[in-house]
Amino acid sequence: MHDVIIVGAGASGLVTAIVSARRGKRVLILEKNTRVGKKLLATGNGKCNITNQRPTTERYYSSNPHFIYKVFEGYSYQSVKQFFRSIGLELIEAKEGKVFPMSLQASSVVELLLAECRELGVEVRCKVEVERIERVGELYEIKYNSGIEIAKAIVIATGHLSAPQLGGVDSGIVFAKRLGHTTIKSFPTLVQLTSPIKRLERIAGVKVESRVSLKTGEGRVIQRHGDVLFTSYGISGLAILDISRFVIVELLKKKSIMLTIDLMPKMSQEQLLALMRKSLVKKSSKPLTIWLQGFINKKLILPILEPLKLKNETISSLYANRKSLEDIVYKIKNFEFEVNGSRGYRGAEVATGGVNTKEINPKTMESKKHKGLYFTGEVLDVDGDRGGFNLHFAWVCGLRAGGSI
Ligand SMILES: Cc1cc2nc3c(=O)[nH]c(=O)nc-3n(C[C@H](O)[C@H](O)[C@H](O)COP(=O)(O)OP(=O)(O)OC[C@H]3O[C@@H](n4cnc5c(N)ncnc54)[C@H](O)[C@@H]3O)c2cc1C
Repeated sequence: MHDVIIVGAGASGLVTAIVSARRGKRVLILEKNTRVGKKLLATGNGKCNITNQRPTTERYYSSNPHFIYKVFEGYSYQSVKQFFRSIGLELIEAKEGKVFPMSLQASSVVELLLAECRELGVEVRCKVEVERIERVGELYEIKYNSGIEIAKAIVIATGHLSAPQLGGVDSGIVFAKRLGHTTIKSFPTLVQLTSPIKRLERIAGVKVESRVSLKTGEGRVIQRHGDVLFTSYGISGLAILDISRFVIVELLKKKSIMLTIDLMPKMSQEQLLALMRKSLVKKSSKPLTIWLQGFINKKLILPILEPLKLKNETISSLYANRKSLEDIVYKIKNFEFEVNGSRGYRGAEVATGGVNTKEINPKTMESKKHKGLYFTGEVLDVDGDRGGFNLHFAWVCGLRAGGSI
């Protein structure tokens, strides 16, 4: 019999295993994939944005925000840094508070976590898919594809539905429900968005640094700054991933919504108007479609000029019509783009929702319904912004659970 069985050898499962094994527990990890940390290997484009220097609670979302506050109380960025140093992984700090392994390789994170597990005698079994978890008196019976195990404690560290191609499943939610827990509905987040706009291929491939704004049904304006990439299905890029959570919440109420994109966020409307006006001359038969190439990506010109009915105009006509120039500038600063959905869990970094955190002790990650049952990481109803926040939550859950089993 094991003291603890951890279901899932991902971020939070591996940390839980290390911390509890250091406290003398006999630990077994069961992982359905052929190797441990498959999702971890894909994080941060293979570099692993492992944590963030400023993991403040405003960067997280849950139907029970107080839970996040309680989980982080006493566990800072330094606690995570210290843990990684203890397994031999040094971290480096980058812009926006992001933190990476010094090697800039996600594989080093997985290798060092696994090596520490091995050194501590943690048994790691891959290709083992847990199918059922049952409470038998004070113990837990874990049934998997080729056998049964018994443990005094069980940790559900199974992640959630995001990135099914990397092993994302909702088995943890199924286990939780069977054990009497309630769950919060999930949707994909940090995800690309789809658009019903026709002929998207004519702008596909254009990448611009932008400021993206969303006006919510309640009249709140949410803005995110960063790259935007127009694609044949809709829109992607870091600013889009960042705003996607809020867009999807709106799309739960409406069929489609309009994003307003400032294609030149570094210049004010007045500055852009002055710059463009300077380049206009009284006599020139050059078409506006050519003139605008001096300012913006060629593929964006027709989507800007067509709605203004200016596509066949020349520099001279614009020189004579101040209002038309103002309209062009306004359109560049307020480019409207309709979105009607997301690329789903396959494109998502994270799934929202999960096990209701009101039923979990934030200091130990233990279920309030069953002694010896723990939940860690994305399976819980907590998700964070892009920037290392999701892994930070997974690590802290592991530190807390491992430290109390
Ligand atoms: C492409 C991508 C990039 C990302 N980049 C970042 C980043 O740079 N920074 C950041 O903070 N976050 C990032 N994330 C999010 C981050 O990876 C997750 O939030 C984090 O891995 C969640 O950790 P976890 O322990 O909850 O679950 P996971 O790491 O997903 O691990 C869960 C494990 O459980 C296993 N499992 C599930 N069910 C069973 C079962 N029934 N039996 C056995 N095993 C099972 C799964 O196979 C999996 O290995 C990224 C996500 C993706 C998809």
